[in-house]
Amino acid sequence: MSAEQPAYATGISLQQARELIIAVASEHTLPPETVALEMALDRVLVTDMFAPFDVPGFANSAMDGFALRGADLPQSGERALRLIGQIFAGGNSAPSVGAGECVRITTGAPLPHGADSVVIKENARVDGGFVWMSAGEKPEANTRPAGEDYRAGELALRAGMRLTAAQLGTLASFGCGTITVKRRIRAVLLTTGDELVPTGVPLGFGQIHDSNRFSLGGLLRTFDVDLVRHEHLRDDPALLRTALQQAARDADIVLSSGGVSAGEADYLPGLLAEIGRIHLWKVRIKPGMPFLFGSIGEALVFSLPGNPVSGIATFLSLVRPALDTMLGINQSARKTWRARLQSAIQKRHSRTEFLRATLTCDENGTLWATPLAKQGSGMLRGVSEADILLIVPEDKHDLAQGSVVEFLPLPGLA
Ligand code: AMP
Ligand code: MG
Repeated sequence: MSAEQPAYATGISLQQARELIIAVASEHTLPPETVALEMALDRVLVTDMFAPFDVPGFANSAMDGFALRGADLPQSGERALRLIGQIFAGGNSAPSVGAGECVRITTGAPLPHGADSVVIKENARVDGGFVWMSAGEKPEANTRPAGEDYRAGELALRAGMRLTAAQLGTLASFGCGTITVKRRIRAVLLTTGDELVPTGVPLGFGQIHDSNRFSLGGLLRTFDVDLVRHEHLRDDPALLRTALQQAARDADIVLSSGGVSAGEADYLPGLLAEIGRIHLWKVRIKPGMPFLFGSIGEALVFSLPGNPVSGIATFLSLVRPALDTMLGINQSARKTWRARLQSAIQKRHSRTEFLRATLTCDENGTLWATPLAKQGSGMLRGVSEADILLIVPEDKHDLAQGSVVEFLPLPGLA
């Protein structure tokens, strides 16, 4: 290797950058911890979960009506069965059903002994101590057998899933009061730039509000990262050095914005090389080319360019795979999304481009992506109004209307 060659990857493709980031992040996986089920939404499951028993645990009625023996249903005309009692959901006993008998039942109540079928109340007529029903009812109808949902011992949820509301429901149906998940990733967010002013403070000459604090902070929260703190830092190398070192001690990841290009006040790459290690600087993407990735001690450092859209695009395309890897979320389980282009695209450069676009689904079930007019990397409007980031590959320069293109969904799409 010649002396001029940097000791880190540079100018690599999006795919190569992802692979490198995933390889480094896989050395930084999070330990497990046990939490109450009510705290487990969006947390990542550590072990496969099997049904401890049949769910439901007993055969029960799927409807409000009358439980009876299927053999007693009339083949033609009408028939009356003697009403011998009732059982409601939560009721603890019911008379057993013999030939020519029935029991009033509600949804979720256990099928009484002897009964195997339910006739819904709308199809039955009560007259004194008898219930009349007509031909056309089916044996075993309107009942739910034990284990219909999950059989005892059946694999229900896989390790590496980020728990959804429905999955919390599944775990609750197994009686889990606590669950073992990955510890949340702790992050310190640093926004850098002399021009930045907090919201609520009037803007002076040349100043802008620190919007990345909220857009990047919002993305961290979207992916359930624990934001230890945010700091705004001036473009001062001494301040930045101290803040980076402290952040690396306090968090699993340091996320910074600004100061990674080649401008006079872009100190991050030099500092990272000095106090830590650079793994990667500059990826063949647009926007977000100056993306910087490294580590300080045990912490991973992601330094995103300051342009608001660059920050969001690099977070979703390069930081998110690292977060997933640290949490043990299987990358190949991630869905690939595709849509057709509503309008043609031309690009001149040979980088992967993230285009802000809206998404619609037509009556044939085809997804259509419409690139927004405002595509500047400093323009929040484009990304605020978009549903997706279209990924135009490096080697594609002319994409006709109707071409199929991959995209990254922006949070909030679903
Ligand atoms: P930089 O990457 O520091 O060269 O910044 C690139 C552009 O992004 C400049 O126009 C900055 O003013 C802007 N910028 C940097 N940080 C932020 C921030 N936190 N919020 C909004 N805009 C920013
Ligand atoms: Mg700056």
